Amino acid sequence: MDQSEIQDLIRRQREFFAAGKTRDISFRLEQLKKLRTMITENEGAIFDALKRDLNKPAWEAYAGDTAIVVNELDYAVKHLRSWAKPKRVKTPLAYFPGSSHIHPAPYGVALIIGPWNFPVQLTLAPLVGAVAAGNCAVLKPSEVSPHTSRLLARLINKNFDDAFFAVVEGGADIARALLAEKFDCIFFTGSVGVGKLVMEAAAKHLTPVTLELGGKNPCIVDADIHLDYAARRITWGKFFNAGQSCVAPDYLLVDKRIKRELLEHINRTIREFYGADPSQSPDYARIVNDRHFDRITNLIKYGNIILGGKTDRTARYIAPTLLDNVVVDSPVMEEEIFGPVLPVIEYEDLSRAIAIVNEMPRPLALYIFSRSRKVQERVLRETSSGGGCINDTTIHETTPYLPFGGAGKSGIGKYHGKASFDAFSHVRSIIKQGFLFDIKLRYPPYKGKLKFM
Ligand code: NAD
Repeated sequence: MDQSEIQDLIRRQREFFAAGKTRDISFRLEQLKKLRTMITENEGAIFDALKRDLNKPAWEAYAGDTAIVVNELDYAVKHLRSWAKPKRVKTPLAYFPGSSHIHPAPYGVALIIGPWNFPVQLTLAPLVGAVAAGNCAVLKPSEVSPHTSRLLARLINKNFDDAFFAVVEGGADIARALLAEKFDCIFFTGSVGVGKLVMEAAAKHLTPVTLELGGKNPCIVDADIHLDYAARRITWGKFFNAGQSCVAPDYLLVDKRIKRELLEHINRTIREFYGADPSQSPDYARIVNDRHFDRITNLIKYGNIILGGKTDRTARYIAPTLLDNVVVDSPVMEEEIFGPVLPVIEYEDLSRAIAIVNEMPRPLALYIFSRSRKVQERVLRETSSGGGCINDTTIHETTPYLPFGGAGKSGIGKYHGKASFDAFSHVRSIIKQGFLFDIKLRYPPYKGKLKFM
C-alpha cells in the first residue's frame, strides 16, 4: 500500500466515523459478535498460521491467542451497554440545579500496531477495545509472523467494511507511512525502541498513545515455597511459546538456601513437560527468525549452562536453557531475553534481590514466590512493575478483570476488559444547566463580593 492509498483508507474511515454509525451501541455489539464468529469459525486456520510462524503448539495458540480474544469479546459484549452509558456524578452546590455527567466518547480513527509473538491476541484484543468504544481502526500486524499477518488481513478485509476497520500489511516502512498520517489514537505493542519512535511520531499530531512494551521481568523466589508448584509455574511461564512472551519471567532471583533444590525441580519439570529431547516435543515452539535465534544463542554464553544449551539454527530450535552463576552486569542481564534462556542469580538477603530489581528499568511484570505474607508485601511495597503475580507467573495477563500494561519504560496505559474500552475512549465531562433561575454571584461587577474588595 502506498502513501496515497493509506491516506484514502484513513479518509474513508473518517467519513464512516463522521456518519455516526459507530455511535450506535447495537451496531458495535453486532460487529463484536461478528468478530467472535470470524475467530471461532477460523480457529483451525489461525492455529495453522501460528504453527507455520512459530511452530506454536495448538494448545498455546488457543490459550495465548484465540481464547484470550474470545474472552475479551464476550466480556465486552456483556458489559458494553453499561460502559457506554454517561455516568452521573455530583455537582457543586454553586451550580445548583445543574447536573454533571461523564460521557465516554470514541476518539475517531485508531491505529493499532502489533508484534509477532502472540500476533492474533495482540492485534485483535486491542481491536475489541477500539470497536467497543466506537472507533474505526487501521490494524498493522507484524511482518515477522507473515502467515498470521496474511491470514488476519484476508479474514478481516473479507468480513468487515474496510471503512470501519481494516488490516494493512507490511513492515517498518509501512508502519512509518501510517505513523506519518494523523490518527485520533495509537495503540502500539512491541519493543521499547520502536515504542519511542511511535510516541515521537504521535507527538507531531498530539495523538494520544497506549504503549505496551517489554522489559526484564524478575521472578523472586523465597525459601518458603511449595517447590513442586513453584517449579511448574515458573517453567510453564518461561517456556510457553519458547520464552517469546512479554510477560515471561526473564530471570530468577533465588534464595540461596533453596537454589539447588529449585533448579533440580525445574530441571525435572522441563523433562516432564517436553521430554528428554525437547526438539522432539510437539509442545515446544521455535524461535521466530534467524535474527532472534542469533541474538538469543549469543546470550547463552554469559553463565554456566546447567540444563539445555542445545541449538539448531536450521530448525531455529533453542532448548530450554538454565544459566547459573550469572552476574548482574552481564549482557544477559541487560537486554530483554525474549527466548527460552533462564538466568539464575542467588541472593542471601531479600534486600539484595529488591536492589537488583530496582537497579533496572521498571518491568512489565514481577513475580514473587513465597508463603510469607511479609515477604510478599515487602516486595510489592519496595518495587514497581506494570503488574505481576504472587506464587504464579503470567496469568494476570489473561483476565479481563485486571487492567494490563507497563510502568515506566515497559509502557504507558492499560487495557483488557473495561480498561480496553477506556483506552479507546475520550472522557467528555459535561455540566447541564437549565433556565429556572440564575445566581448572579459569579458575574461582574465583583465589588463587595470578597470581604477585602
Ligand atoms: P517491534 O517493536 O520490533 O515491532 C512491533 C511492531 O512495530 C511491528 O508491527 C513492526 O512492524 C513495527 N515496527 C518495527 N520497526 C518500526 C519502526 N521503525 N517504526 C514503526 N514501526 C515499526 O517488536 P516485536 O519484535 O514485534 O515484539 C517484541 C517486543 O514486544 C518485546 O520487547 C516484547 O516485550 C514486546 N511485547 C510487549 C507486549 C505487551 O503487552 N506489553 C506484548 C508482546 C510483546
